[in-house]
Amino acid sequence: MRIIMLGAPGAGKGTQAKKISEKFNIQYISTGDILRREIEQETELGLKAKSFVESGKLVTDELVIEIIKNFIQGDSAEKGFLMDGFPRNLVQAKKFTEMLEEIGMKLDHVINIAVDSSEITDRLSKRRTCRKCHRATSIAIGNNGGICPECGGELFKRKDDTEEVIMHRLEVYEKETRPLTEYYNESGILINIEGSGTEEEVTEKILKDL
Ligand code: AMP
Repeated sequence: MRIIMLGAPGAGKGTQAKKISEKFNIQYISTGDILRREIEQETELGLKAKSFVESGKLVTDELVIEIIKNFIQGDSAEKGFLMDGFPRNLVQAKKFTEMLEEIGMKLDHVINIAVDSSEITDRLSKRRTCRKCHRATSIAIGNNGGICPECGGELFKRKDDTEEVIMHRLEVYEKETRPLTEYYNESGILINIEGSGTEEEVTEKILKDL
């Protein structure tokens, strides 16, 4: 099964994507996680991406397409995959369709999680991320201790989860990423999910529609 997860920052894509990919035993891939790891390790790619990621701008299409190309040519993509954070604009989406066609693959589903923008701002300002397992958690559910409830790793606030950068990321989403729902709707593979409610409720809705 090959799936793309769409939705605004903070819609719960990452959390749901990890659960769904585990359930179907397919590879989870997050371009944001890959870029943050590269930045932390100060690699050449990380140095190129750093200022974009930290200010909430999209990194260049060439850079992410290269990451994705390496991934889909590798063995781990064979069983299927769930993409979180890619594609992020129409150029990336069209290129991805082409890349898949070249190797005789097609997407099965595109899941679009929609959440009200006021809820999104609130969620992002309370979001903390685990340094070790990269899962997101919320201080609203009592994780102020700074420890990941999943793996015990250290929680941190992403540099792009500050109010000013959040506003910019939401603008980028509206302008660049939202049009992808139309693109995939035309191919008849779009599933719209209402993303408010508990984590478990949203997972249930997705599983029901897959
Ligand atoms: P995310 O973790 O998906 O919210 O991504 C964090 C940041 O990584 C974004 O704000 C962008 O700077 C960068 N990024 C992640 N995925 C992409 C992509 N497909 N295209 C361009 N930039 C991306």
